Amino acid sequence: MPDIGSTANPLRVAIIGAGPAGFYTISNFLKYKELTVEMDLYDRLPTPYGLVRAGVAPDHQKDKSVTRAYAKSAEQPNVRFYGNVEYGKHLQLADLQAHYHQVIFTNGAPTDRDLGIPGEDLQGSHSATDFVAWYNGHPDFADHQFDLSQESVAIVGVGNVAMDVARILCKSYAELAETDIADHALAALKNSQVKRVYLLGRRGPAQAAFTPPEIKEMGELAEAEVTVPVEEAQVDAISQQYLDANPDKNVEKNIGFITDYSRRVITGKDKLLTLRFLVSPIEIIGEAGHVAALKLAKNAITATADGAIRPSATGEEEILEAGLVFRSVGYQGIPVSNVPFDAKKGTIRNIEGRVVDESGEAVTGLYTAGWIKRGPSGVIGTNKHDGDAASRQIQEDCTDGGKAGRAGLEELLANKSVRWVDYSDWQKIDEAEKSAAAEGAPRRKLTRIPEMLAVLDG
Ligand code: NAP
Repeated sequence: MPDIGSTANPLRVAIIGAGPAGFYTISNFLKYKELTVEMDLYDRLPTPYGLVRAGVAPDHQKDKSVTRAYAKSAEQPNVRFYGNVEYGKHLQLADLQAHYHQVIFTNGAPTDRDLGIPGEDLQGSHSATDFVAWYNGHPDFADHQFDLSQESVAIVGVGNVAMDVARILCKSYAELAETDIADHALAALKNSQVKRVYLLGRRGPAQAAFTPPEIKEMGELAEAEVTVPVEEAQVDAISQQYLDANPDKNVEKNIGFITDYSRRVITGKDKLLTLRFLVSPIEIIGEAGHVAALKLAKNAITATADGAIRPSATGEEEILEAGLVFRSVGYQGIPVSNVPFDAKKGTIRNIEGRVVDESGEAVTGLYTAGWIKRGPSGVIGTNKHDGDAASRQIQEDCTDGGKAGRAGLEELLANKSVRWVDYSDWQKIDEAEKSAAAEGAPRRKLTRIPEMLAVLDG
């Protein structure tokens, strides 16, 4: 048999999940000019780009421009996209192992963490990630309902997802209409009665998880103003000591914006966004089965013996009225069929990207990258490193043997009557969305799979 990675015996790689981690794995592979590799990218949706399409906020179009680089990778002759094909349903691990030398899982973290407090299952209590997927037109969430007739909304957590949700709730119709927000969300937000939005951080301003551009934007909204209670904007002595020893420009900038907002005079814009610190929800209080308020425990900052900065309840409590609650305390990975999973971390069990079993032994030919490898942290570009590591490892671990690759897989999918969508099909869907855009908006998203397939059927 000719050497693996040669023209006569290409290295055949299946990539599961067409988000940033999948695309960075491909672009890194493309750098190895001496290697002939065929890369097939599978996604359960007919649309590529994962969270860049369904997670990045619709008013952050600049962040979505990375898709231009991803498109270049997808258009390479040795790369193929198989959309509308679901791992675990249409394809099993054994199918992939039979047809590919190596399989890499880049399927992300599709669900979210809960708070574990009473009242979380009341009507009006939602995960922020569901709301994000809904306003971004993810087909699984097109029929979700959010009661925007409520005047007060509380968002638990102060990461960038919480900021996105707060911003979308606070933006005016005119601001949202220039984005690619899903039609159903634009219509619902047009009639929104939301006037007060609370962002709830359990620790202090120095531990906020959002980044400076996101907190800066909050001070620049057309119809909403932002405030922070003066006493909660203060940096406590423990955090200050930590910051003096470990200076961090982003934290300093965050504190600068928070201090500025705490000093602003409220002028009476239509909506008010209040950023709170040192409060933890301990119960969601209901009335007739619907969220009515949150019981908050007030916290103080303490340091553990190993130096970690934690919130500790002071014993003081407060009731915050809110008719809608979004928990925004992080995404969560879920088990992937037949692949070792670390339930505690919510990731595929791996050592630096090589999938391992419970005893730590590498499982031949299986790799992982992105959030399902390392957990839901970092920005889009953080996945570049994972993509680089995965492609390098896969190359190092090349095992010989003939594999049928895409030809065999296409036959298998055809036998199962699976209708896959290739990259040129996606380009038609993309074009249809762009040409249907309202004036000033980048695209009008199709939010249901049958609508997408109908474009292909003319
Ligand atoms: P995140 O950055 O990890 O923030 C989670 C927030 O939830 C933190 O404030 C955390 O507080 C809080 N939290 C966790 N458990 C809690 C609990 N039990 N009670 C109260 N609060 C709790 O997660 P994320 O916002 O979902 O974002 C995920 C990743 O995507 C991040 O890396 C983020 O930067 C990235 N992202 C980036 C953008 C952008 O660049 N514009 C947009 C969206 C997302 P503690 O710190 O105290 O744990």
